[in-house]
This record gives sequence, C-alpha cells and structure tokens, in this order.
Amino acid sequence: MHRKLFFLIPLFSLVLQTACQKTMSEEQIRARAMIIHEAALIVDTHCDTPTRLLRGNYDLGQRHEPGAPGSGQIDFPRMKEGGLDAEFFAAFLSQRALTPDGYENAWSRCNQIIDSMEVTCQRYSHLAEIATTPQDAVRLEKEGKRAAFLGIENGYPLAEDISRVKHFADRGVRYITLCHTRNNQICDSSTDDAPMHDGLSDFGREVVKEMNRFGIMVDVSHISDKSFYDVLEITNAPVLASHSSVRAISDSPRNLDDDMLRALKANGGVIQICVLDSYIKSDPERRAVIDTATDSLRTERGSWSDQKTEAEQKIYREAYYGIRERFPSTAGVKDIADHIDYVVNLIGIEYVGVGTDFDGGGGIPGFNDVTDFPNLTVELFLRNYSEQDIKKIWGGNVMRVLQTVIDSAE
Ligand SMILES: [Zn+2]
Repeated sequence: MHRKLFFLIPLFSLVLQTACQKTMSEEQIRARAMIIHEAALIVDTHCDTPTRLLRGNYDLGQRHEPGAPGSGQIDFPRMKEGGLDAEFFAAFLSQRALTPDGYENAWSRCNQIIDSMEVTCQRYSHLAEIATTPQDAVRLEKEGKRAAFLGIENGYPLAEDISRVKHFADRGVRYITLCHTRNNQICDSSTDDAPMHDGLSDFGREVVKEMNRFGIMVDVSHISDKSFYDVLEITNAPVLASHSSVRAISDSPRNLDDDMLRALKANGGVIQICVLDSYIKSDPERRAVIDTATDSLRTERGSWSDQKTEAEQKIYREAYYGIRERFPSTAGVKDIADHIDYVVNLIGIEYVGVGTDFDGGGGIPGFNDVTDFPNLTVELFLRNYSEQDIKKIWGGNVMRVLQTVIDSAE
C-alpha cells in the first residue's frame, strides 16, 4: 500500500507539472524555473578563464558587460547573476614539444596560473574562495560566495615526474585532463593525426593510479577512444568528461559515442555536455566555410604555437575568433538540452551535467556567458525534468563523482 503510494506521488506531480506548464505564461514558467535554479547547487566543470588572468588584463572580481569587447564569459559578479555557484577553473597548457624545455615551461606556467587563481580569490575573499570538496561548495553557496575549484587541462606539466601528481593535489587541483588536442607523454589525443602509444602510455597508467591515490578526478575529455577505454580498465574511481558532448548527435572525435556512454555508466562517471558549437550541432556547410577561412589564416600566419609574442598572439586570436563571429552558430539552448535528453534516455539521469568551455571556445546563441545559465534551466523545466532531476544535472552528479573520488583515495 505504502509502496504503491510512493510510486504514485512522483507520477502525480509530473502530471501536475505538465498540466500546469501548458497553461502557464512565459513569465510564470521562467519564475518557476528560477525557483529551482536558485535552490540548486549549480556547477560548471570547465572554463579556461584563468588563461586571461595570466595575460594580466582581466579581473575576475569585476563585472564585465556581456558581449562587450574583452568581457570574457565568466567573472565572479556575473556568476552570481547567473546563479552559478561553483566553477572549475582550468589551468590550460597548450601542447608543445615533449622535451625538458617544453616540460619546464608548462610546469612553471601551470603553477603561475594556480598562483594567480589563489591571489585573485584572496583579493576577492568576500566574493569567492578556492574549494576542494563538495562540502566546500555547499558551505560557500550558503554564504553567498562562489566556489572556485581548480583543474588542469592537459597533463603535459607533469612531465615524466610522477611526484608532481601529489604536488598538484596538495595545491588543491581536483581534476587533470590527461591531454589536449595533441598526443602527449600520458596518452593519445582524440584529435592528433596518428596514435603514439596506442592509448595510455606506461607513464599514463601510473598517472591514473596516482590520481586515484590522491583524490584527483581523471578527466577523459580530449583523450582518444582507446585512451578512454584504457583509463576505464585501470581506474578504481569514477571518471569525469569535463567538457564533451554526444557523438550520436554531433559527430566529433571530441564527443562520446553510445558504447563509451554505456562504459561511463558502468564506471559511475559523468559526462558534462560541452557548449562548443561544433560539438553541439553538426553544421557541415558552416563548418566548411570556417575551415577554409581558418586554413588561409594558418597559411598566412601559421598555427597558434607559431605566435611567439603577445602582440602576435593577440592578432591571431582576434582573427581566429573573428572568423567564428562572421559565421555565427546556428545552435541554441534547445540543442544543449537535446544532448542532455540523449544521455538521460541512453544511460539515465545520474551521469550528465554541463561543462561550458567558456573562455576556451564555448558559447552559442542563447548560452554565451554565465548570465545565460537560467535559460537552460527553463528549457529543462519545459521538458518536464523534475526539480530533483535538474539538481542532479546542474551539480549533483558531478559532486557525487568528486565525493566518490575523494572517498576512494588513500
Ligand atoms: Zn578543451
């Protein structure tokens, strides 16, 4: 009798919610969605904003007007406006040569980026603090402050020195993306020309075990499919795809296919949908135009890594993003929700979240800076996700993964 009642209550509230939404005005829908949005712990697992700090011309504690030149996509005041409680700020290292010099530069740059996050959070301690556990995030949310988790995008700065995993754990780093767009000493990348290790290298296997030991989430975004399965074979904790989407919807090697999603479920991990237009929506015609323009930029000025001076990098950045602005994305918030629906239908509600990749290429019309976060909650509400479901998507799932990783560490 009681058991039956338990089953009926959620069913009843779903019917009620659906019936209500049909008769609700747009303002009423938004108001209801905002109540859920505010009650939820909202977490974004990937942005490259710290790169801006190192350039020295960006202040995370100041509000920047969305869309204005140089405004970036995340700052503490706008996080509050958009209801974003916790952000994983990634220290991004572009892949250079696997040489002592290359390693040394990446190592010192990575530590400098973490320094700059620490300095910024100390300076604006009334707005944000460095967080390392789900409890920190919950406490800071209650205090009305932002939680700043630290991640590293690319294991390159580990060089071939396994003791550096502990060094970064001690500095508060909670995930490391094993590689970036090129193969490195740890594993093969999903976007390099040819495999170098056939998945994880021997050193990479040690790195995964060491990350397990010290409670750092293994981030499988960017790594090749073979590397992904190699990681799942040896990890003793759930993994994170901090910013990847669904390959069945948008056919990119950066996205996860159905078998990978099923394997992710078996591991207890989570995929955080990346809001980068080409990962969200295949638009072959637009892609072709952009590729042609990007190719001619490369012919003229070389690749990102050929830009040695600050001035060269600035020109290159403006040209690169200028091309993308001339041919804007046709994706929208509904497309993000489609990726979430797909994962939920395939493997369940427990394994999906959001990793924007803001300030690293992420952003689409309707979801282009952190003040747009409520738009996705409205869309999920319209699709009849319950308050509980929305809370899982917005942060509950990834916080579960982080807690499990911490608990299974030594
Ligand atoms: Zn990335």
